[in-house]
Amino acid sequence: MDETGARRLIVSLAGSLFARGFSAGSSGNISVRLDDGYLITPTNSCLGRLDADALSRLDAEFRHVAGAAPSKEVFMHRAFYRARPACGAVVHLHSTMATAVSCLPDMDAANPIPALTPYFVMRIGGRLPVLPYWRPGDPAIEPAILEAARDARAVLLANHGPVVSGASLTDAVYAAEELEEAARLFMVLRGMAPRSLTPTQVTELLPRG
Ligand SMILES: [Zn+2]
Repeated sequence: MDETGARRLIVSLAGSLFARGFSAGSSGNISVRLDDGYLITPTNSCLGRLDADALSRLDAEFRHVAGAAPSKEVFMHRAFYRARPACGAVVHLHSTMATAVSCLPDMDAANPIPALTPYFVMRIGGRLPVLPYWRPGDPAIEPAILEAARDARAVLLANHGPVVSGASLTDAVYAAEELEEAARLFMVLRGMAPRSLTPTQVTELLPRG
């Protein structure tokens, strides 16, 4: 996809996420890898009202070269691109149910959401490490995400929200949506001892890479 197409797709999918309640106010940020750099949503921008021409343009070293100033959470995106060479896009949301799970004191920090449905496993890949809380904008989060992202397509930031990667922007958005829905199911079923997929059922669903 060329840069013009990527800009249009960011605006379109971000608007869809906002309209359906996946992000509120100016929360959430989205980036896409280009041949010679990156596009990322600007700092303090609302995903529902993005301007394709004002998106932040970064060079291959993540230096701001055009457009509005980039999201202050740009280093979370950089960590995924550096850890995962095939990563084409990153979506970070404060979506309600995934963030609710990130606040639970008794969760399994290696796998906070059980494999209740196939699509969660297929989109997220069976691993969702939970990283400790950091103040938003604290660059100390970058090495921790980079380490975790080497073998995870998505991470959950404690008391903050999910960061999800994908081979393309569409893939990353679908995975972020699937993560939110899996978190919703998990919260709805808490205390009901639901049946999860078996390890064999999970293994046969896992995507390659
Ligand atoms: Zn955030």
